[in-house]
Amino acid sequence: MSDLRAPVTAYVAIGANLGDASTAVLCAINDLAELPQTDLVAQSSQYQTAPSASSGPDYINAVVEMSTRLTAQELLLALQQIEFEAGRDRPYPNAPRTLDLDILLYGEARIESTHLSIPHPRMFERAFVLVPLAEIAPALVTSEQLEAVAAQAITRLADGSGS
Ligand code: ADP
Ligand code: MG
Repeated sequence: MSDLRAPVTAYVAIGANLGDASTAVLCAINDLAELPQTDLVAQSSQYQTAPSASSGPDYINAVVEMSTRLTAQELLLALQQIEFEAGRDRPYPNAPRTLDLDILLYGEARIESTHLSIPHPRMFERAFVLVPLAEIAPALVTSEQLEAVAAQAITRLADGSGS
């Protein structure tokens, strides 16, 4: 009998708003692709959005689809490690660097624990999540859900494949 868990399709939202946020997002996607027991299946274009809760530089956002044998908890820890390493790599002291990685969906799982809520509780309020998610997984987002966030400005930048 094999120990291997069946792979699960998970969606992760990426956001960054440092000076070179676009590079931070690309680096994060590379890091996600290199996670153990995980394959990157699809990546959205990059999108530029104004910060929703505060002032500051615009965000660059993207969503990736992965197939992973990591548990949801293991995936969360791996994302936090990538965030931590990105935060350490500062171009100068106190550089305004952030990287936010959120698990949107993990298969059909519904999780409500202290450290993890899946589906991500705020995903349906955010154009910067729904628009890139709809690009790579149109069946997961309804036109009503997109309509509900249509007032939030979001600009598509580059193709997810970089071409
Ligand atoms: P936010 O993403 O809400 O802007 P943070 O990135 O600082 O804020 O996350 C705060 C906490 O959210 C993390 O410590 C993590 O334990 C928790 N969390 C709950 N659900 C999720 C999820 N689906 N994906 C990522 N983090 C989550
Ligand atoms: Mg987060």
